[in-house]
Amino acid sequence: MTRTVLVTGGGTGIGKAVAAAFVSEGDQVIITGRRSEVLHSAAEELGGAVTPLVCDATDPEQLAALRTRLPGSLDVLVNNAGGNREFDGAPVGDLPGLADTWRANLEANLIGAVLTTAALDKLLVRGSAVVSIGSFAADRGAGSYGAAKAAMNAWNIFLARQLGPRGVSCNVVAPGYVEETEFFRDRRTDQFHQERLAETMVGRAGRPEDIAEVVRFIASPGARHITGQVLRVDGGVIPTR
Ligand code: NDP
Repeated sequence: MTRTVLVTGGGTGIGKAVAAAFVSEGDQVIITGRRSEVLHSAAEELGGAVTPLVCDATDPEQLAALRTRLPGSLDVLVNNAGGNREFDGAPVGDLPGLADTWRANLEANLIGAVLTTAALDKLLVRGSAVVSIGSFAADRGAGSYGAAKAAMNAWNIFLARQLGPRGVSCNVVAPGYVEETEFFRDRRTDQFHQERLAETMVGRAGRPEDIAEVVRFIASPGARHITGQVLRVDGGVIPTR
């Protein structure tokens, strides 16, 4: 059965790999993001089953407009859009700057997912899945970015309770350090890279495909009884008991 899948931030990195994973299953995939040219080039690369639609996940008006352009139902929603707005930098000791950075990270990594899910809620059919991309930063005290991803984990529990009776599963997939995305911009020095690898049990960085495969599984019919969970995909950086 062909599913309809929407991936926010699907033009690059992890989101693009997630889109590719669903395309390979024969699904219809909609990718969103703020840059039209990036989305169109990704859609061209991924093939005809992908529809690129510009939408800022944090903008209620753009989300309302997006909804009118979608088919009548959605099988999988992947809240992937996000990033660390601390990289935009607030000077230490500058309170207005600090406030801006915290608000920006909460907006980019939490509120975008909350608003997107609320805007598209009515389209989610029985058996559908909401998968949100969190981060191992939620468990590592990584400032406003980690706090925003930790808040996503808390919100996911609420969402899973809310949508569970409708047969909709809600889970967070939390990557560790993932290469080959735009996330780190120009901050990935060799030393930074080696330090991240040394933290893992497997001695390598994650690839977007590592995350995409877990998203594909968690949205599959075989995973219907998994909900309200956070699945870390971090090469063993943070083990669990
Ligand atoms: P990328 O920067 O490559 O991907 C982020 C995507 O989100 C971009 O396509 C961007 O496109 C889009 N985006 C950002 N803000 C918005 C918005 N407001 N509305 C719509 N789209 C938006 O990085 P990754 O692929 O690495 O990141 C994907 C997710 O994975 C993020 O949530 C990130 O926090 C998480 N993550 C990444 C890790 C890593 O090591 N790379 C580790 C842990 C988590 P555009 O700018 O055009 O809008």
